[in-house]
Amino acid sequence: MATGKINVSVENIFPLIKKFLYSDHEIFLRELISNATDATLKLKHLTDIGETDVKYGNPVIEVKVDKEGKKLHVIDQGVGMTKEEVEKYINEVAFSGAEEFLEKYKDSAKDSGIIGHFGLGFYSAFMVANKVEIITKSYKDEPAAHWVCEGTTEFTLGDADKKERGTEIILHINEEDEEFLEENRIQELLVKYNKFMPIPIKFGTKEETLPLPEDAPEDAEAETKTVDNIINNPEPAWTKQPNDLEDKDYKSFYRELYPMQFEEPLFHIHLNVDYPFNLTGILYFPKMTQDMNIQKDKIQLYQNQVYVTDNVEGIVPEFLTMLRGVIDSPDIPLNVSRSYLQADGAVKKISSYITRKVADKLKSLFNNNREDFEQKWNDIKIVIEYGMLSEDKFYEKAQKFALYPTVENEYFTFEELQEKIKVNQTDKDGNLVVLYASNQDEQHSYIEAAKAKGYKVLLLDSPIISHLLQKMEGEKEKITFVRVDSDQVDNLIKKDEEKISKLSEEEKEKLKGDFEKVIPKEKYTVQLEAMDSDAAPLLITQPEFMRRMKEMQQTGGGG
Ligand code: ADP
Ligand code: MG
Repeated sequence: MATGKINVSVENIFPLIKKFLYSDHEIFLRELISNATDATLKLKHLTDIGETDVKYGNPVIEVKVDKEGKKLHVIDQGVGMTKEEVEKYINEVAFSGAEEFLEKYKDSAKDSGIIGHFGLGFYSAFMVANKVEIITKSYKDEPAAHWVCEGTTEFTLGDADKKERGTEIILHINEEDEEFLEENRIQELLVKYNKFMPIPIKFGTKEETLPLPEDAPEDAEAETKTVDNIINNPEPAWTKQPNDLEDKDYKSFYRELYPMQFEEPLFHIHLNVDYPFNLTGILYFPKMTQDMNIQKDKIQLYQNQVYVTDNVEGIVPEFLTMLRGVIDSPDIPLNVSRSYLQADGAVKKISSYITRKVADKLKSLFNNNREDFEQKWNDIKIVIEYGMLSEDKFYEKAQKFALYPTVENEYFTFEELQEKIKVNQTDKDGNLVVLYASNQDEQHSYIEAAKAKGYKVLLLDSPIISHLLQKMEGEKEKITFVRVDSDQVDNLIKKDEEKISKLSEEEKEKLKGDFEKVIPKEKYTVQLEAMDSDAAPLLITQPEFMRRMKEMQQTGGGG
């Protein structure tokens, strides 16, 4: 039995760890299971390359709660450690790592969001335990070791009589952290952080209902049997090759990711790149519904199949944060603040790679099945329009597949608009004037009036559409967008020779005057021309610029 003093210059590191990691106590379990996974994968590697002839078998990682003894056990069948290795890896390396961490981040460390992602590894166990034991037996033929530390810089290291290869970590849970002795809480954490880790994780047992045989009588009771409760799917879809997956596999992975989400995704994008950075993942376009604002099923970020966060701000361009799915990349530095992250070169590349992949996918959906794309348009347009507004690169690509539907359900691309509408919809300078409605019910009379004149009216009802139209007018000369109820429609309308109206010119002027007495002239214009089309008795229009100003004030800047 040896005793020793952990070599560390920080007076006592544990109060510091506890203080800095306070808001993210729960990550200790993720760290211990990551270590258990690493140890198992190391053994796999050693057996694969023939470095050892121990049998790899089918190792699992087991988590056990001992409520009475107030202990939590994490047990693996990995490489284990010899006494010397415990000295080296546990006593020295981890401490120097923690010390370096504290040195480097002492200013930013108060921002708990940062620390939570850093992962202090093994020592994060002391956030929830006042005493930690390691009982470990190396795959090398050496006696097992037993390390005990009670949250000070003192430790003991002796022999253990463990027979099986691997490591058992025992946490003596603090009184104030007893939530981590609740099975439900542990189950919840395992599902959150370890659901897709590569080595099976067992947590207790569960009852499984056996399928009834084909010829079973109708009132037969289904049999159940007790099976291991395996938390994870060690081979999640994003780790596979797209060629090995069918549409149904993507859909079932979506349900695995979001078990409470019953709506099917519209389509997916499989990300897979290993140079100049490493990134895999699957993104899904969900059906955009009215209550999308309160969004809880977000894109999840993983590193080597370990869940890190669902805050992908700065990694994925903002307009794509409305998507769902997973991104897994070991190349995203997480031990830095988000603002630093946005300036990071690798992260910028990742962000533009994702944008490009999304644009390419949309383009190919459009090319391969336009009809289907048109049908999905209403559900995807918010993302696309928002992306066009905020990312110039995306705007360029998207202008090839973004759709501009008419009130009569025809869908035009930007190019088609220019070709097909120009024929009869120009102002006196020959510029293309595109009429649009933003609300088919409210603007019904105006729409009908325009249709009666033979004009096409688009239906553009996204909240950000005025910003986007402004951008398009800026990028393309000789095109203006005019809402059907705007006074500019008048410029376009050729006065017909033949009048339908029963009123004489004088009567009309008088009527107009009467209306103008009650309607503020600087805000609205009274037009009687529509009488001639039989669509409406008279129209009250608003200057286009005024309306846009008001709309932009409502939706905030941008554009
Ligand atoms: P990191 O995992 O980043 O190396 P940790 O503090 O989590 O840092 O772990 C320190 C080291 O302790 C590991 O690198 C490994 O060598 C050793 N170790 C920790 N847990 C285990 C385990 N379950 N089995 C074998 N070795 C382990
Ligand atoms: Mg670790």
